[in-house]
Amino acid sequence: MEFSILVDSFYKMESTRKRLELTQFLVELFEKTPIEIISKIVYLIQGKLRPDFEGIELGVAERIAMRSISKSSGIPIKKIETEYRKGGDLGHAASIILEQKTQTTFLVEDITVERVYETLFKIAKLEGPHSQDMKMKYISSLLNDASPLEANYILKLLLGTLRLGVAENTMMDALAIAFSGDKDNRKILQHAYNVSSDLGKVAETIAIDGIEEIKKFKIILFNPIRPMLADRIKSEEEAIEKMGNAFAAEYKLDGERVQLHIEGEKMELFSRSLENISSYYPDIIEKIPKNIQVDNIIVEAEIVAINENTGKFLPFQELMHRRRKYKIEKAVTQYPITVNFFDILYCNGKSCLELNYKDRRRKLEESVKEDNFAKYIPMSIVTNKNEIEDFMENSINSGSEGLMLKLLDKPYQAGSRGSHWLKLKREYQNELGDSLDLVVIGGFFGKGRRTGSYGTLLLATYDEDEDVFTSICKVGTGFTDEDLDQLYQMLNPKVTIKKNPRIISEMKADVWFEPELVIEVVASEITLSPIHKAAMDKIRKETGLALRFPKFTGKIRVEKAVEDASTNEEIIALYKGQKKVAHDKNLM
Ligand code: AMP
Repeated sequence: MEFSILVDSFYKMESTRKRLELTQFLVELFEKTPIEIISKIVYLIQGKLRPDFEGIELGVAERIAMRSISKSSGIPIKKIETEYRKGGDLGHAASIILEQKTQTTFLVEDITVERVYETLFKIAKLEGPHSQDMKMKYISSLLNDASPLEANYILKLLLGTLRLGVAENTMMDALAIAFSGDKDNRKILQHAYNVSSDLGKVAETIAIDGIEEIKKFKIILFNPIRPMLADRIKSEEEAIEKMGNAFAAEYKLDGERVQLHIEGEKMELFSRSLENISSYYPDIIEKIPKNIQVDNIIVEAEIVAINENTGKFLPFQELMHRRRKYKIEKAVTQYPITVNFFDILYCNGKSCLELNYKDRRRKLEESVKEDNFAKYIPMSIVTNKNEIEDFMENSINSGSEGLMLKLLDKPYQAGSRGSHWLKLKREYQNELGDSLDLVVIGGFFGKGRRTGSYGTLLLATYDEDEDVFTSICKVGTGFTDEDLDQLYQMLNPKVTIKKNPRIISEMKADVWFEPELVIEVVASEITLSPIHKAAMDKIRKETGLALRFPKFTGKIRVEKAVEDASTNEEIIALYKGQKKVAHDKNLM
């Protein structure tokens, strides 16, 4: 398939944010795509080469990209840099540069999607001492044959800056229409996606085998399942109101959620955002297979750092010491953990998602043996407020954050947040009643003690409808010197020359970051704001919402994808909840 067909679609998609138009462009594109390469097209639209959990990252450095443009155009790097600075978009700069190309090539080969994909794949796989030179060679050979517009998108793919704003739901709508003629089949696709986390695979299945095969779509061992999420509640009363008079309460441990896929000695660990995190936990890989009593299994657990002397759970930050590539053995002994199992999703070749909570818990206990390292999360069936309070007390005393409450007769709903699971944190019960996970979008340089770091950060919520990040507050309190250091190290590589188009903010930050990092804050209140963009126009016209007295809690949520950050919908619910509390208090 000619690459120019894909590029035309990219161009059209970039020009709109309207979901219906995007769907239409996608349907037209899918109809033109040979079915053998449909999965490649789906990944490329998402700016990737394979599903996230395979961890194949392009991420070519800007410097290498500029040198490649220079090599293939004959134009000096300085000039390319100047063009880049004008607009802050290297893809666009490349297209302008290539228009003025001084070195004409005579043997122009047609570029196909297949060729671009294979070349990008080779580049992503390159490692070692000569890899930079090889990357340049591959990139400039593509650019030599590319039209200026094609070059623009090749560079965006290489740099990871292609942002078409196509949400997964939109992609599934278009696949359903193009390959089954009925948009309502999206629901069936959604299930296949929830159990495989691989939209390319879903697309390939419907395109080649049709909707009937999608209906039979099964869990694939070692492909992560999209996790079930919980709604938050604020009080024991609310729990009883929503869950009735008997439900399960589990400790809500403050660790890292992990999905373990195991068959014999083979094992992979996936994070909550479906990244493969096996390399951080060699101790789990070594020990856990011995606890498994069945042939194959997918289970979920919370990994928690512990104090070996007291056996108490330690806060999430302690696990950060495991986030390193080298000397992991040392971290394993210095920062011991336990693996605390709470769910089973697959067992001996069969899905367990349809089983209700009680049956899953029983199956979990039958399939995984407990010892000092592998534990079941403490659980109790509760029937009234006192019992919830008692269990909450035990949970907090053990070093946990609160409780997860789960309905006994409900299945596991992969990939969705709902009211079958509720979370009740102790800290929800004061002030704003909640901690928030926000995306770091901008920074302000520190003064005095904070020189050489970002003293204040600009934070954003996630707007699910528009797939953008909307500013909600600046935060400058709650940071220790160590936090500031660590955040500086983590944020510095994310600095961009120009604000990413998915960031919606009128603030003038000293630097803008790629929206990639989530941190946790607490605040005293949510207020209306003429400056911040979260929930703009939703409560009042031309007014957004902001956090009052935000404070960093010390938690950098590396395990969360930015799309898992607190959403505007959640902020609106909190804002309304807080008004209701104030109103109720006035009535008292
Ligand atoms: P939050 O990150 O605040 O949205 O809370 C949900 C997270 O709580 C999950 O992603 C898990 O990492 C964690 N968690 C701790 N204990 C449990 C439990 N018993 N059941 C489910 N999730 C738990």
